[in-house]
Amino acid sequence: MIEQNIHEVLVNANNAFNELKQYSPSHKAAFLKTIAAEIEALGDSLLEQAAEETNLPIERLKGERARTILQLHLFAEMLQEGSWVEAVIDTAIPERTPPKPNIRRMLFPIGPIVVFGASNFPFAYSTAGGDTASALAAGCSVIVKAHPAHLNTSKMVFQAIQKAIKINNMPQHIVQHVTETSFEAGKVLVQHPLTAGVGFTGSLSGGKALTQYAAERGKPIPVFAEMGSINPVIILPNAMQQNAETIAKEYAASITLGMGQFCTNPGLIITLQHKKLPVFLQELGKQIEMSVPSAMLHKGIHQAYFSKLEKVLAQKGVNLLKQSIHVVQALDALPTVATVNASVFLENPLLHEEVFGPYSLVVQCASMDELFTVWKAVKGQLTTSIMGTDEDLANYHTIVDTAIEIAGRIVFNGVPTGVEVCPAMVHGGPYPACTDSRFTAVGIFAVKRWVRPIAFQNAPDYLLPLELKDSNPLKIWRMLNGVFTKIGF
Ligand code: NAP
Repeated sequence: MIEQNIHEVLVNANNAFNELKQYSPSHKAAFLKTIAAEIEALGDSLLEQAAEETNLPIERLKGERARTILQLHLFAEMLQEGSWVEAVIDTAIPERTPPKPNIRRMLFPIGPIVVFGASNFPFAYSTAGGDTASALAAGCSVIVKAHPAHLNTSKMVFQAIQKAIKINNMPQHIVQHVTETSFEAGKVLVQHPLTAGVGFTGSLSGGKALTQYAAERGKPIPVFAEMGSINPVIILPNAMQQNAETIAKEYAASITLGMGQFCTNPGLIITLQHKKLPVFLQELGKQIEMSVPSAMLHKGIHQAYFSKLEKVLAQKGVNLLKQSIHVVQALDALPTVATVNASVFLENPLLHEEVFGPYSLVVQCASMDELFTVWKAVKGQLTTSIMGTDEDLANYHTIVDTAIEIAGRIVFNGVPTGVEVCPAMVHGGPYPACTDSRFTAVGIFAVKRWVRPIAFQNAPDYLLPLELKDSNPLKIWRMLNGVFTKIGF
C-alpha cells in the first residue's frame, strides 16, 4: 500500500517537473512569493498550532516564520536576477586548427526532490523551508515527508502552498505532502526510481539511514543531509585574561537559547588551564544554575537528551560543573555544563558526540599545542568559534587554517547560534555535519544542490534556452569568452 501510494506521488511529481520546464523564471518567482504571502496570511493560527505541537515559544516561532518568508523572497529575487544558472558561452573559432566549436553551458534542475525536515524548525527546515524553496527555485518538483512532531503545522503550511499553486497556475503536483509517519515510507521515497535527490535535516542516525537507502538504489542519487554538530569554541589566552566573565555570560546564553535545540548549539568549549579559567567556570556555572528550564520539542528528544546526558556524565574523568537549580517539569530540559581534561576527551569518542539540548562540555588543555590537538580531533562541524583578541589572533596565525579544516562557518568573537539568512551564508561543513561539504543548506546557493551543468555544442540559437541565446533576452550576467557581461551579441 505504501509502495503504491508513493509510486503515484512520484509519477505525479515527475510529470509536474516536466511541465515546470516551460515556466519562466518570473512565473516561478511569483509562485515563491505567493507561498510566502499565504504563509503570512495564516496569521496567529499557524503560530499557535506550531507552539502547541513543538512547545516552542510564540516569539521564537514568529522569528522562524519571518526567516522562512525571507528565504522564499530571496530565492524569488535570485530567479528574477537570473545569473545563478552560471551561463557560460565560448563562441566558435572555425579558423583555428582544429576548429573550436561553439560551446555554451548552464545549470539545469535534476528532477523530483524528497524533503525531510527536522523537528526543531517547524517552518524554516520543514514543509516550505529552505530545502523546498531552493528545490522549487531550481525548477524541481518537491515531495515533503511531513515530520510527525509537527504534522498539523505541516498540513497548514502545505495548504498555503496549495493555494499558491492555484493562484499561480502551477502544475498541481509541483509540491506534494506525504503524511505517512514511518521510516518505511521514508525508505520507499528515497528508493523510488523517479526520485532524483534528497534533502534532509535532522539527526546523524537519520541522515546515515537515508544515505544508506540511497546507496542501495540501482541508480545512486545525491542525499544532502544536514545533521548534528557540536560547534567547538576555542577561547584564546588573552581573551580569557581580559573577558572571562563576559564570555561566560555570552556562552551560557547561547547554550540555553531555545533549550539548546539548535544544530549550532555550542556543545564544546576548548580552553587553556589559564589563571582566569576559575573565573570563567564560576560565571558559566552561575549562569547555568540560574537558567530556567522549559519544555523540549517532544518526548523523543526529551528522552534522548536525558539518556545521552546521563551517559556523558557517567564517563570517567567528566566532572559536572553545574546544572539549573530550578524545578524541572514533565518535558523540561535540564541545562548542564561539565568539564573534562584534554587527555580524557581525546581518548573517549563518546564525548565528541552531539547531546542535543542545553549542554556543553568545557575541555581544559595544558598548552596551546594540546588545545589545537583537541580542536583538530573533533569531526566535521557546521561552525567553529574563536574567542580571541587581536593579539591572540596575531600570535596563533594557523588558527584560520585549522578552523577551515573543521567547519563551514568560522565565527570570530561571537556565538554560533543564530544563522543569518543571506547569500554569503554557509550552513554546512565536513562530514558528519553534512554529507557534502561543498554545498550550503542556507542562503541562495542552497539551490546548487538540485542542479547539474549541461553543455550545448554547436546548437542552433532557436533551440537554446533563453539564458544561452545570443541576444541574452533575460539580460542576465553571463561569461562570454572569459569576460562577465550582460551584453548580447
Ligand atoms: P530526526 O529524528 O533525524 O528526524 C528527521 C526526519 O528524518 C524525520 O522526518 C524522520 O522520520 C526521518 N528519519 C529519521 N530517521 C530515519 C530513518 N532511519 N529512516 C527514515 N526516515 C528517518 O531529527 P529531529 O529529531 O527531527 O531533529 C533534531 C536533529 O536535527 C538534531 O540532531 C539537530 O542537530 C539536527 N538539525 C540539524 C540542522 C542542520 O542544518 N544541520 C538543523 C536543524 C536540526 P519520521 O518522520 O518518520 O520520524
